[in-house]
Amino acid sequence: MPGKTKKTKKIRKTSKKPRKVKKAKFSKKDVRLFKDLLIKEKINLLEGMDHLTRETLNKSPREASGDLSGYSYHMADMASNVMDRDINLTLASGERELFFKIEDALKRIEEGEYGYCVACNKKISKTRLRAIPHTPYCRNCQENEEKNNKK
Ligand SMILES: [Zn+2]
Repeated sequence: MPGKTKKTKKIRKTSKKPRKVKKAKFSKKDVRLFKDLLIKEKINLLEGMDHLTRETLNKSPREASGDLSGYSYHMADMASNVMDRDINLTLASGERELFFKIEDALKRIEEGEYGYCVACNKKISKTRLRAIPHTPYCRNCQENEEKNNKK
């Protein structure tokens, strides 16, 4: 090793270690769109849960019933306040699975990981995400997963 050459001066600051490779992210607009889709999905799911919905609505009565946008935002609020415990008690296993997939997807949005396959790390197509916003897998991995489950 030629230790005394001037090469050493070229060494850059190493204090900033890249901990994680930043992935190309969706635009803010897209993120909001998918977040919206996820929240809507969650609300739909929760609305199917009779007793829980009724109970929560009774706690915070909504006003004008004609105001649908206000209503849906209230529901979004409600959706984020529901406890896991209640979900576990109320949902059938398929619904519960879906619920947690939605939750996970929302978490990935917060972490900036949304839209990437959790198995192979490849970008999931927007078309696919629009159809199944909560999906953690790209199509290939999803198919593999289903094949494995059928065994
Ligand atoms: Zn994949």
